[in-house]
Amino acid sequence: MNLETKKRTFVGLLLAALAILGILVYYIWHLTFFKSTLYSQIIFVILIVFLAGLAGITLLGLFGIFLAVFKIPLFPSWQRVIRMSVNIFYPFIIQLGRVFKITQDKIQRSFIELNNYLLEIRYIRVHPKDLLLLLPHCLQQSDCSYRINTDITNCRKCGNCMIGSLMDLAEKYRVKVKVVTGGTLARKEIELLQPKAIIAVACERDLSSGILEASPLPVLGISNERPQGPCHNTCVNIKHVEEGIQFFLQR
Ligand code: SF4
Repeated sequence: MNLETKKRTFVGLLLAALAILGILVYYIWHLTFFKSTLYSQIIFVILIVFLAGLAGITLLGLFGIFLAVFKIPLFPSWQRVIRMSVNIFYPFIIQLGRVFKITQDKIQRSFIELNNYLLEIRYIRVHPKDLLLLLPHCLQQSDCSYRINTDITNCRKCGNCMIGSLMDLAEKYRVKVKVVTGGTLARKEIELLQPKAIIAVACERDLSSGILEASPLPVLGISNERPQGPCHNTCVNIKHVEEGIQFFLQR
């Protein structure tokens, strides 16, 4: 596997963030020793130490990502540093994207791809009972009257939407499955079920915020398809969901 274009957007912005941090440290360093009083010097030195620490984490994270591309095994603590650098810089990278006229959607897609890639190289394996398949309510046919978000087994598998097939998949692999109407309910289900890994289906915005919030819990993100617009009769590629389940359950 290599760093495809999608992932490169996020990694490229992470590099740009690192360059900005470097310039900032240099600028503050210059102010500290050439244009300041003793009092402001102390503040500047604290700031430099903080920014240099951030730059160090990012540098290690980026280096780890590049090593991962070449399938060089990384220590778990290094993998944590990669996650930390990606998570800390996420809000800044969204802002940076605006400067470079890169849409939020594109950055979020790239972030999800990178997240999934970093999960793959961690070789996480869980028991079926510890795997949770989290589905968005918008996958349900809008005129279906069965209340599947309280209990998915209320679905009659009529074939008018993908919920029935996703239930079949969950039954086949004996993994837990929940339909949620938003982030608050998703958090509640996670707290209640205590999964060790999650496969989440949602739009890019909800997926990226969910992945960040759930960290360090591994979340494999699968974007839904929205042929009728957002939040309405959405679909998902069943094959991708099955591959996700197989990935986490592999012995
Ligand atoms: S498969 Fe049919 S019964 Fe199940 S949620 Fe979709 S429309 Fe409703």
